[in-house]
Amino acid sequence: RKDSVFITGASSGLGLATAKALAETRKWHIIMACRDFLKAERAAKSAGMSKQNYTILHLDLASLDSVREFVDGYKRSGRPLDVLVCNAAVYQPIAKEPSFTAEGFELSVGTNHLGHFLLSRLLLDDLKQSDYPSKRLIIVGSITGNTNTLAGNVPPKANLGNLRGLAGGLNGLNSSTMIDGEEFDGAKAYKDSKVCNMLTMQEFHRRFHEESGITFASLYPGCIAMTDLFREHIPLFRLLFPSFQKYITKGFVSEHEAGKRLAQVVSDPSLTKSSVYWSWNQNSASFENQLSPEASDEEKARKIWELSEKLVGLA
Ligand code: NDP
Repeated sequence: RKDSVFITGASSGLGLATAKALAETRKWHIIMACRDFLKAERAAKSAGMSKQNYTILHLDLASLDSVREFVDGYKRSGRPLDVLVCNAAVYQPIAKEPSFTAEGFELSVGTNHLGHFLLSRLLLDDLKQSDYPSKRLIIVGSITGNTNTLAGNVPPKANLGNLRGLAGGLNGLNSSTMIDGEEFDGAKAYKDSKVCNMLTMQEFHRRFHEESGITFASLYPGCIAMTDLFREHIPLFRLLFPSFQKYITKGFVSEHEAGKRLAQVVSDPSLTKSSVYWSWNQNSASFENQLSPEASDEEKARKIWELSEKLVGLA
């Protein structure tokens, strides 16, 4: 059988480029887990992916019911699951007011962190049961959540504080919409969600790597400044940001190159070490990168895990 990889948010940007890169190897069947079926179908077609290499399944990470339905549907299908890639994300850098998921969590953390947290928890047993020798659970992290980098020091900086907003449910009613309990800031909420993503992979590693042999990894594929992630940013930013990344920071990567990098984390036999945050140097060689103190704080990782379990109904 073909190896089977699930990619959330494969309808554009990095997710689509990764799906395309893996489809081209003909070794993988790609489950594109997307909220917009038609968009995903068109995207797969225009990327030149052949029908027999992919299946599109509906998943809206901003609804925990949708996550549960997706998992139920998948379990009924009897398909294997060898690698799960949590890639989808929303970014609302200029939003003045918060938006909310179906369950009433602030949208960025609700989608990027809580939706993926529930998804990966519910699929963990299936991943464990796979007979694929190198099963992996991968989440796309970001440099912007890492305050040990230049990019991570552009305000507003990621900061989860004492987690009082998360403990209160991030709903803006009886708690703040921000994890640290402060006032809403869309750019910061995204960065905070990425810190949660990177901490979650380390906590998965501590809890399940030894018993399951699953590789848990996160990565920063480089700044893919042209993707739809920036769709809600002001037009001038969207115009200038790619050139700024290309010529000033030199952090720019094309969707194609970033897709190849994530595809490497999915399938390269040399990238099987667990609990690594992968990055790439100027020559496109992968290396194990250092996370910021907060993005590698074991105690915080454990607390976020426990609070998130409560919010998504697992505890
Ligand atoms: P895109 O906006 O192109 O892709 C994001 C994907 O997530 C889209 O397919 C989108 O679906 C999907 N998505 C959003 N909300 C939901 C939801 N509720 N349910 C299901 N899917 C959803 O951005 P990128 O490709 O840039 O982002 C991919 C990942 O890369 C993210 O995790 C991002 O944080 C990360 N990243 C990006 C960087 C960059 O420079 N662009 C740098 C570092 C990390 P739809 O097509 O329907 O909108």
